[in-house]
Amino acid sequence: AAKHNGRGNFQFFSAAMHDATTQRIKLEAELHQALERREFLLHYQPKLDLATGKTSGFEALLRWNHPQRGLVPPLEFISVLEDTGLIIAVGEWVVAEVCRQLGAWRADGFPIVPVAINLSARQLEQDDLAATIEQIVTASGIAPALLEFELTESMLMVNPDAAVAILGRIKALGMRLSIDDFGTGYSSLAYLKRFPLDALKIDRTFVRDLPHDSDDAAITRAVINLAHSLNLKVVAEGVENLEQLCELKRFGCDEIQGYYVDRPLVPARCFIRADSAPLLGMQRDAALAM
Ligand code: C2E
Ligand code: MG
Ligand code: MG
Ligand code: MG
Repeated sequence: AAKHNGRGNFQFFSAAMHDATTQRIKLEAELHQALERREFLLHYQPKLDLATGKTSGFEALLRWNHPQRGLVPPLEFISVLEDTGLIIAVGEWVVAEVCRQLGAWRADGFPIVPVAINLSARQLEQDDLAATIEQIVTASGIAPALLEFELTESMLMVNPDAAVAILGRIKALGMRLSIDDFGTGYSSLAYLKRFPLDALKIDRTFVRDLPHDSDDAAITRAVINLAHSLNLKVVAEGVENLEQLCELKRFGCDEIQGYYVDRPLVPARCFIRADSAPLLGMQRDAALAM
């Protein structure tokens, strides 16, 4: 259709495409320098144990502090890091930074809980991923049991045999493994049994309309029951209100994460959460009394 639109339109689209290409090249160049310029940082979002009301761990979430744009969320740059292969170096930095942070919390005398790190498909393609992680963690002196790795179903399904081998090695180091965004990818729980997993994280799209959407309620309940019968813990993502929390607790969900508990936090705000319930007052009492 474009060729019938006349010269003016063609030039318009061409200019727009040129613009997008220029922007993309600029973004790539900036990301190439971001590591050495120390522009990446991590925020930490707590997970709440519904049985005890305590923080059971944190998830490290990558942020880019751009000199002009300020804090840039990961969805705006992770795919570029993946396309360019920069995710390998940045992913290693994330592991090292989490270890450094855990060491700093420990040195300050704060109680510490495990931290989960998101992996990307490109990292799982590296045969030496487990060895690289082991090297970084050993050098840091941090107990391997304080680290957990989150992977998505689709990442595992690209090359399941290779994934089973790599995850087996990470697991043998004493680290935990979980499936992120569960329910949005293509896999079956029976298939997931092949992987040495500890937990499933139910995607927030299933949590959003709880307790009102009966389909989402049925799916959530079924996933929790099946996961438990496979000896997996269940974490619900994206919990934004007390009604969702109560419904998930009623279904037997083990842990929750979401804005209702806390947003991703700067490290300085995390320590007070590690040994005390983040939900305060009556809401917490109501939830835990159920
Ligand atoms: P994810 O691992 O599923 O992380 C959860 C995302 O949901 C985070 O977005 C978090 O801020 C957001 N979130 C948490 N609670 C709520 C809630 O109650 N409501 C809503 N609407 N959102 C909530 P964020 O930090 O923007 O990260 C987006 C994605 O970027 C992550 O999804 C993960 O896939 C990826 N990512 C983040 N950090 C890293 C990293 O270090 N490495 C890799 N490879 N990917 C990362
Ligand atoms: Mg995650
Ligand atoms: Mg998720
Ligand atoms: Mg995600």
